[in-house]
Amino acid sequence: MRDDSFHLLKKLVEAPSPSGYEGPVIRIYREYVEQKADFFSIDVMGNASAIISGEQPGPRVMITGHCDEIGFMTQFIDEQGFIYFSAIGSIDHQLIPGRKVTIHTRQGPIAGVVGKKPVHLMEEDEKRKVPALSDLFIDIGARNKKETTEKIMIGDAITLDVNLERLLNNSICSKALDNKVGAFILAEVLRLVKERKKDLCGELICVATVQEEIGIRGARVSAYQHKPDVGIAVDVGFATDHPNVDKKRVGEFSLGKGPIITRGANINPLVFDGLLQIAQEKKIPYQIEGAPQTTGTEAGVMQLSRNGVAAGLVSVPCRYMHTPTEMVSLDDLETTIDLLGHFILEQSSDFSFIPI
Ligand SMILES: [Zn+2]
Repeated sequence: MRDDSFHLLKKLVEAPSPSGYEGPVIRIYREYVEQKADFFSIDVMGNASAIISGEQPGPRVMITGHCDEIGFMTQFIDEQGFIYFSAIGSIDHQLIPGRKVTIHTRQGPIAGVVGKKPVHLMEEDEKRKVPALSDLFIDIGARNKKETTEKIMIGDAITLDVNLERLLNNSICSKALDNKVGAFILAEVLRLVKERKKDLCGELICVATVQEEIGIRGARVSAYQHKPDVGIAVDVGFATDHPNVDKKRVGEFSLGKGPIITRGANINPLVFDGLLQIAQEKKIPYQIEGAPQTTGTEAGVMQLSRNGVAAGLVSVPCRYMHTPTEMVSLDDLETTIDLLGHFILEQSSDFSFIPI
């Protein structure tokens, strides 16, 4: 991976962006794509759209990558100055005690730790129990409520302090790979398509969307705004090549074996066929997922926008999703960029996505 690209990925992943508080990550996305796009805009929710227009007519292809992450929000401060919090999105909260966190206040970031009774002082049955999220608290070192409330406002967003690290075989781990990798892929597809703009038919619309983790909200208004012919969601998908997951139930997906291309009712068959054909022609590795119902991704809301959009879903295999240390392969990011770039540049003026 180019140094510039890796640097962008690291910045996107490490920027705090719990749903509803995506400002920092959208600013990084804007900085990278605004100059390359023919048109750039941010809507009232915070969705950031970068558009490149081709010289010939063709389909409007919108690709989305949600740039919000799961996190927490301050809810209550007790007399001793400890902070109680709620979850933003669905987080595996049994992994949170003992972690370092950052509270993003209006005066700037404040460090804290999620407190935990020492194991020596726990009764045997306590050791087996998972504490309720509402019993967890953050300690910022304050002596009382007054000291905490001088710094913290109710509703401040909280993120885990986990940065991006390289592991063996071109894999990386970090918080929030779900789905900063999606926003990263969009930015890189835009860069590639810009370099070959003369070959583009129609339009490419790359939208870093907000508020996916709390009900797939941003993509809904973006699809309405842009009226695409094709809408492809770029997200993470479950890798099942590690202990304790059931391949019979989820399917077989491995890190480093290429993007997961989904098929099923939520996906337009011609979009699926187009992606598959490109992968085979260009010798891009891929994995196939069957989704008998709606996918629970932005492909679901895009498909139902206005009078229907030809939806697609391309996912990067991810281990340990929604834990503080998710894991993906850089190779899969590059092959996903390659697949989407080629798919967009292969579109022609003579297009139809009517499946029958
Ligand atoms: Zn997620």
